[in-house]
Amino acid sequence: MTLLKTFHDLGLPQPLVSSLEAAGFSTPTKIQVEAIPSLLKGRDMLGIAQTGSGKTAAFGLPILAALMALPGRPRPMSARALILAPTRELAVQIDEAIRSFAGSAKRISTVLVLGGVSRHSQIQKIAKGVDVMIATPGRLQDLVDDGKVWLSETRFLVLDEADRMLDMGFIGPVKALAKAIGHKRQTMLFSATMAPNIADLAKDLLNDPLRVEAAPQGSTVVKIDQRVILAGAKAKRGVLNELLADEALEKVIIFARTKHGADRVTKNLGIDGHEAAAIHGNKTQNARQAALKGFASGAKRILVATDIAARGIDVPGITHVINYELPDDAENYVHRIGRTGRNGASGIAITLCDGTERSKLRDIERLIRRTLPVSGDLNLANTTGVKAAPAGADRGPRPGPRTPRNPKTQAPRRAERQMGAFAGHADEPARSQPHHQPSDAPRGKPAHAGKPAGGKDKPGKQRWTRSQKNAAKARREGGRRERVA
Ligand code: AMP
Repeated sequence: MTLLKTFHDLGLPQPLVSSLEAAGFSTPTKIQVEAIPSLLKGRDMLGIAQTGSGKTAAFGLPILAALMALPGRPRPMSARALILAPTRELAVQIDEAIRSFAGSAKRISTVLVLGGVSRHSQIQKIAKGVDVMIATPGRLQDLVDDGKVWLSETRFLVLDEADRMLDMGFIGPVKALAKAIGHKRQTMLFSATMAPNIADLAKDLLNDPLRVEAAPQGSTVVKIDQRVILAGAKAKRGVLNELLADEALEKVIIFARTKHGADRVTKNLGIDGHEAAAIHGNKTQNARQAALKGFASGAKRILVATDIAARGIDVPGITHVINYELPDDAENYVHRIGRTGRNGASGIAITLCDGTERSKLRDIERLIRRTLPVSGDLNLANTTGVKAAPAGADRGPRPGPRTPRNPKTQAPRRAERQMGAFAGHADEPARSQPHHQPSDAPRGKPAHAGKPAGGKDKPGKQRWTRSQKNAAKARREGGRRERVA
């Protein structure tokens, strides 16, 4: 059984194996087992994998092994290996990982080349020559154009989260940078999906690549308990307060659709007594790093983020993901909820969905091929809180200390009771549906989630699939019974 292999079995040099042991990595993940031996032999690679699979070590370790075997020092103004990443946060994370793998065995120099911060110190570091450059494409292209970096000495090229780089419009710089490196290179391309534009790019840049597909590590995503609360746009703030009143929500990432939305949610959270850090594209790089650090260290319980800023973030111990707004692109839902339930831990993802977002919810259900358990009644939820029969009527409210709330946004008591049942502990089993592993779910139309039940949508009127209606009815009846009793 391949997964029982050790890092030593994969052919890595002892100093790297030792630093992996020191970092607590004893067993390689699937992608590491499959990729490392071939990469050590110099083969190109196409990895269909996302954050959580262990891909950074899969490409980073063979590159480090090769660099450690090279004589001399890197030439001035050049980098021996180039790793391109779509966002600054992911680049910072990769840099940290590479430096921890390299340990103290042999000094490996790295440089981060990122937009949004001063070019000066980056240029100074590059001037001396570096082993590994981790860069976002836009800034690196600028430095290359200005003659501050020579890529002709680069022998290793990694494109991490290539799908996101293309989504962000980096196709031009990515191709230009690969061209500047030339053909004498080993190339590794990683993408969460195998969309046609990725296939084209892979064909362009890779030479007879090894192809490896890997979901996030084993049991991680399977353990995410996913729920939807129907709440009108105006009711969401109250519902969020109700959820956050539960201490079980220890480390929470809240997703908004836009930068403006993220700022609004953060501001309202502050008014309502919940201190939160925010991370999005309008923040300076320093502010983004400070927000991430505060959240990762536990100093801040809540991080509010947009999709792009949060891509690739790997903060351990996130207990809950709350989708305050649904993403425009259903695939981002999968990336969002993947922030929790990492490294074998369980996690809960709660999505607040208003009337205008129903089609987005259907797109998500189609993508992940399951109907998400829904609570709340949208027709009653547009002004205050969610007024519907209690979901999970089999369980009572979760007692717990309440944080101070703004009287303006206080939701009705009934909503509080209902939300108490939602803010479950991460270690509780899912109630109503089998867990699902969205990351490798094939696309396609499930039997249950293709069209909205009852024909075309009418504005202001809620339409759900038959199974969602039945589930809502069962919850209402359960709630009635509970009230009578
Ligand atoms: P990545 O997919 O590279 O973003 O890695 C996701 C997380 O898995 C990071 O927190 C890594 O530290 C961790 N990780 C990577 N490889 C291993 C391994 N072999 N054993 C345990 N944890 C790992």
